[in-house]
Amino acid sequence: MPGFEKAKLMTFPRYVLIGHDVVEQTGDLVERLGWGRRALIVSDERTKAIAGDSAARALAGAGFHADFAIISGASMASVEQVKEQAFRSRADFLIGAGGGSVIDVTKLSAYELDRPFISMPTSAAHDGIASGRASIKENQGNVSKAAKPPDAIVADTALILKAPYRMLASGCGDIMANLVAVKDWELAHKLKGEEFSTFAASLSVNSAELVIEDRDRIRPESEDAVWTVVKSLISSGVAMSIAGDSRPASGSEHMFSHMLDRLAPGKAMHGEQCGVGSIMMMKLHGGDWRLIKETLEHVKAPVTAKQLNIPEKTLIEALVGAHKIRPDRYTVLGEKGLTKERARELAVETGVL
Ligand SMILES: [Zn+2]
Repeated sequence: MPGFEKAKLMTFPRYVLIGHDVVEQTGDLVERLGWGRRALIVSDERTKAIAGDSAARALAGAGFHADFAIISGASMASVEQVKEQAFRSRADFLIGAGGGSVIDVTKLSAYELDRPFISMPTSAAHDGIASGRASIKENQGNVSKAAKPPDAIVADTALILKAPYRMLASGCGDIMANLVAVKDWELAHKLKGEEFSTFAASLSVNSAELVIEDRDRIRPESEDAVWTVVKSLISSGVAMSIAGDSRPASGSEHMFSHMLDRLAPGKAMHGEQCGVGSIMMMKLHGGDWRLIKETLEHVKAPVTAKQLNIPEKTLIEALVGAHKIRPDRYTVLGEKGLTKERARELAVETGVL
């Protein structure tokens, strides 16, 4: 049939090992993957004790050699440090055992070194644990860099349960963003002819709907809650792998969050900001914003500017400037964004202010 020229390369994790005490199975997993015998485990001081040491023990038990790279923060200096240590210890593969920063640094290092890596999260605060992009701090703030999705994920629910519950609730906010992101994507497809993947979009929406359905199970001190949220964060990552970029899980609500990062860095967590952004952007779309708000309230994630620790003026400013974050990505904010009046109205109508 003439005329069909579509071609696409999709990259997925090969194994996803999730559940109670699965870190202990790391050696068997790497044995199956056949990557070689030498590992470099990337951690920070804290996550080395939580996950890194257990991973090293599991690897040693299966006859692997493991070295450590202890980093602090998601900077290019950390990436250089990991690359150098990987080179020196002749590492065949990398393991990022830690939170978002550790996994981002490992992801980018592995990509630049062209080595496989395992994502071993110690918290479930956002979908970076399974995505192909790395958020790295540079002078002006965080920059999202192209890397690759993890080759394998080891998500130990017993271990993630030890992280503060606030992080899991934040993860729910990052998942609610999918509902808005897909609506933004549909809009860009309709108005700008942007390529759209129904498969990626359905998987992304489905991940969010599962969290909404299971919201009664998401509460502090529940390993079952960790299971539900982590599963959903991983399928968000897979949706992004299908799309080949972050479109299915990042739209206007993420732009609002990134603008807040610039205006009020460190006030709230990424997923918390995305959750509040999702409430407001869903209202702009004319969708069911109340359902998002109720879900976030139910899992004890922030739903107001006050709970985010953001002053009214900053919140309005973030809404007004959000569209400038990524002008190439068309969203419900349009090319001109919101006026100050409309932004305030939106925040008041949704109870954010
Ligand atoms: Zn996110």
